[in-house]
Amino acid sequence: MSAVSIWTPGDGEVQIGAAQIQTRILELGAQITKDYAGKNPHLICVLNGAYHFMSDLTRAIELPLTIDFLAVSSYGTQTKTSGEVKLIKDLSLPLHDMDVILVEDIVDTGLTMNYLLGYLGGRGPASLKVAALLSKPARRKVEVPVDYLGFTIPDAYVYGYGLDRAHLDRNIPFISSIKAG
Ligand code: 5GP
Repeated sequence: MSAVSIWTPGDGEVQIGAAQIQTRILELGAQITKDYAGKNPHLICVLNGAYHFMSDLTRAIELPLTIDFLAVSSYGTQTKTSGEVKLIKDLSLPLHDMDVILVEDIVDTGLTMNYLLGYLGGRGPASLKVAALLSKPARRKVEVPVDYLGFTIPDAYVYGYGLDRAHLDRNIPFISSIKAG
């Protein structure tokens, strides 16, 4: 048996513990509960990376709400997005007159978010806001609004809590990174 299990954090500079993630999500949920009082927000999870965040965030919002899911894949390599985004799973529900909150794992260059905001905005929602667990502003190529942000992080490749490392490690309950090379 290997001495290093997947539950051992990496040696990179970004380390966000499971309890720290939950505390921040409770704060975001409380803010959304306040901002959307009297409304039924419609949360759209961007698969796959945001699946834990979506689950915990919806349980931190004390309002009747609806959910939907979409999946995108970006052309290019894993660490270098080309900016072209392909929709690989579309929404199940219409957005007309909905108060939509788009739930993303991480905003990196901003290209995916920029594409999604254009796509969803064209479907006639009453309002459209963004919740992202992580943001790497140093990598931004296009400015996008992030209305509810968990954590700002430096330019490092992170994994865990929904985010993958070569398709693995999404089930790690904390966020970690490995020292660049
Ligand atoms: P963007 O279009 O903003 O450059 O990239 C957004 C997507 O790239 C995210 O939704 C995520 O899937 C992926 N991504 C960006 N940075 C990271 C990272 O550090 N780790 C992982 N696992 N995925 C990332």
